[in-house]
Amino acid sequence: MLRSLLIRDIHTLVLMDPANTVLRHAYLYIEDGEIRQVGTRPAKLPRADRTISGRYAVAVPGLVNTHHHLFQTLTRACPAAADAELFDWLRTLYPLWARLDEESVHVAALAGMAELLLSGCTTTTDHHYLFPRGHSRLIDAEIEAARRIGIRFHPTRGSMSVGKSKGGLPPDSVVQSESRILADCERLIRQYHDPAPGSMLRIALAPCSPFSVSPELMRATAALAGRYNVRLHTHLAETRDEEAYCLNRFGKRPLDLLEDVGWLNANTWLAHGIWFNRREVARLGRAGVGIAHCPTSNMRLGSGSAPVLALRRAGCPVGLGVDGSASNDSSHMLAEARQALLMHRLIHGAAALNVADTLRMATVGGARCLGRDDIGSLEAGKRGDVALFDLRDVGYSGAGDAVSALLLCAPTRVSTLVVEGRVVVEDGELKTISLDPVLARHRRLAARMQGPSNTMDWK
Ligand code: ZN
Repeated sequence: MLRSLLIRDIHTLVLMDPANTVLRHAYLYIEDGEIRQVGTRPAKLPRADRTISGRYAVAVPGLVNTHHHLFQTLTRACPAAADAELFDWLRTLYPLWARLDEESVHVAALAGMAELLLSGCTTTTDHHYLFPRGHSRLIDAEIEAARRIGIRFHPTRGSMSVGKSKGGLPPDSVVQSESRILADCERLIRQYHDPAPGSMLRIALAPCSPFSVSPELMRATAALAGRYNVRLHTHLAETRDEEAYCLNRFGKRPLDLLEDVGWLNANTWLAHGIWFNRREVARLGRAGVGIAHCPTSNMRLGSGSAPVLALRRAGCPVGLGVDGSASNDSSHMLAEARQALLMHRLIHGAAALNVADTLRMATVGGARCLGRDDIGSLEAGKRGDVALFDLRDVGYSGAGDAVSALLLCAPTRVSTLVVEGRVVVEDGELKTISLDPVLARHRRLAARMQGPSNTMDWK
């Protein structure tokens, strides 16, 4: 086991520190997973168990993905749901997802995590909320995948308890009883949650959405999270349909419902947050609620655009999320950052959002959403999570500035990726697992799940 790693002669190194420092000809020294030294031209470089050259690379802190549903890699580009908005998209896909089991969740997680790692992402969350009867160990299956592949992981124990017969959106076959949900949340925290600095695994609790759980479950989940000091996550204000559902069923707007169940505080981060009005943005900022902004999914489903510039100004931590692989349909974090930049420039003008601020959302902002101050920037004392992109790639050829090129040029595959001081990707290839057999299995499982609607034929 290597204890120390030196990356030397880095062409351009983005620290993402408060001063937005960018270094040329820099080096980074990591020991026992922690960054010990970073800078330029020292009198003497530290000696390390392993040394890598960064001569042709632009290096950034490992990207942080704040919202995802890894199982949905099995229903990417599903023809039946290709052109639907959220509620119809969900109604079409729930019956397919009802076929999930431990094997398919494990393989889907490996495929999605591989895609994330290769796009520069070193920390991801996942929101798994669908537990078909008889399959209660699905979070365990994705934790096993994260350990195998070497990604820093924040799985959230999702839940759905209000099925169609009780006025919810999902079919009854995929919802669970609230007592069972809470017992499993507690089991997962006790079994896996590691609150220590440098942690590779933290659990959060995540009832799915206002249209699939009860306010009682939201309240009980908040109480449980408080008892164990873990974070809270849910979908909120994603679509107009959700807003209409909340007004209709609870007589409240989504944010009032959130406050009512004890979630309007800095322990919570929300996926989407599109349909907040100006007063609600100010309330969220005062409360310090985090927002996982998912621009591609929001555009793909035609859900709307989140007021993330206003949310940031109001004081909310804002991170980026690739969201479910069936509503994106990708797990490429660098592409997501580019999408965020382009989306808000389209709406607010080219000066509204620059490359540095977008990268900040993809790194430090995401880390804050997950409640972490030990990742997201490359400073002494932080964890050794680094993504290096090769500036010799055809897509960067002719670029005048290495940092701008990352988001203005086409998103590429990472060349080297380091997680907790460990080289997980080298020369653009995963070192921790053999990807081809995983993808062959993944394609077979996807074909089985999608059934006759899947038109991909490998024979
Ligand atoms: Zn989602």
